Amino acid sequence: MQEKDQSVMEKIVSLCKRRGFIFPGSDIYGGLAGTWDYGPYGAQLSHNIKELWWKHFVSEQENIFGISTPTLVPEAVWKASGHLSGFTDPMIECKKCHHRFRTDHLPEENKTKKKCPDCGGELGEEKAFNLMFPVNIGSSGDTTAYLRGEIAPGMFLNFKNVLDTLHPDLPFGLAQIGKAYRNEIAPRDFLFRVREFDLMEFEYFVREETWEKYFEMWRLEMWKWVERVGIQKDMTHELEVSVEDRAFYSKRTIDFEFDFPFGKKELYGLAYRTDHDLKSHSVGSGVDLTYFDEETKERFTPHVVEPSFGHGRTLLAVLVSAYREDVMGDETRVYLAFKPSIAPVKVAVFPLLKNKPELVEKARGVYALLKKEFGAVVFDDNGNIGKRYRRQDEIGTPFCITIDFDTLEKGTGVTVRNRDTGEQERVEESELHIYLKEKLS
Ligand code: ATP
Repeated sequence: MQEKDQSVMEKIVSLCKRRGFIFPGSDIYGGLAGTWDYGPYGAQLSHNIKELWWKHFVSEQENIFGISTPTLVPEAVWKASGHLSGFTDPMIECKKCHHRFRTDHLPEENKTKKKCPDCGGELGEEKAFNLMFPVNIGSSGDTTAYLRGEIAPGMFLNFKNVLDTLHPDLPFGLAQIGKAYRNEIAPRDFLFRVREFDLMEFEYFVREETWEKYFEMWRLEMWKWVERVGIQKDMTHELEVSVEDRAFYSKRTIDFEFDFPFGKKELYGLAYRTDHDLKSHSVGSGVDLTYFDEETKERFTPHVVEPSFGHGRTLLAVLVSAYREDVMGDETRVYLAFKPSIAPVKVAVFPLLKNKPELVEKARGVYALLKKEFGAVVFDDNGNIGKRYRRQDEIGTPFCITIDFDTLEKGTGVTVRNRDTGEQERVEESELHIYLKEKLS
């Protein structure tokens, strides 16, 4: 099982490279560990996931407001939030080969015997390693900032700005999607543990006595998201995080774990952060971050429920969930069963033959019309039809349309082929828009 899973991972990584989804970061210069470049299909898939998340958790919600804040954040913020002292992972170094490991990721045997998993040498003493990246700002370089290790502070720093400008009533949320940076001790497992990644997250501000209700509400909504984006539900599991493993300020945390090919690991987090953040930033900045209830005339610090979604881990879970192999005709084929809403290409249009100008012209016309309507439509006349289908299957294109002689001579419409079943049906040209709109939504 383990072997099979590992080979699926290798196949996905290789497909991503071969078909222009994801490449190792700065590859032609020898690479930079923990970074990945997104190629044309990867960037489109990534964009579609972010767009869908924004739709699900911002646009379709009545009281969640989207914001966007810088990745460069001054030192004082991280002092107040506790990241400068506490955003650490336990690290251990081998005395012989000097490789460094995250202690909590070492196999149990190596941990207890203090034995290096790489060379068998003796492991040294455990140290706390801070994950924040410092940056010197300005021409004199005497202002220290940090690349943000979390995007949450952006929401807390703008709590008052939003209160003063939009005057929302509690409960309300502030959401953003953006980069976070962590100097991970050992980046690994493709997109799973990297040093630069996008987070999709919101802070939901509530009255203290209501936190349980909203925690439950967002827990259920996170499951709806899992299904909507195309992550297999039966490969996703909740883990109630124990008091010992929770952040010190959190009174309840649930991790959503996913059965990645390299093991069951954290995909998302849902945390009740109490009033810790607003209070800490109020003390740190000297600015009042309380809320005034006009009706009850009470002034208090709201509490926070935070659903947090790693974007790269979402993309990886989507790829693992969508990866399929089957036999079609006499050939094994590989396809990605993406939900149409996130597929990087929605429709491919083919003339049956490349060397028949009347077919090509007709196919170009259909392509131009569909492109106007659906955007992510491609034209392909290269190689035989079977090969063109396989190419689209591999990048997860839900529908392929072929223009043949019957289209021209008998006016019997075009052939629409379904990616998952391989089945083909004739659809009238005049009906094509409606047909695709329905299937792609
Ligand atoms: P881990 O224990 O795996 O290091 P964490 O508990 O530190 O993760 P959080 O601080 O809760 O993670 O981060 C929120 C989300 O960000 C995680 O649920 C995950 O999806 C994502 N994430 C965290 N670290 C990384 C990373 N190094 N690479 C990619 N995604 C990450």
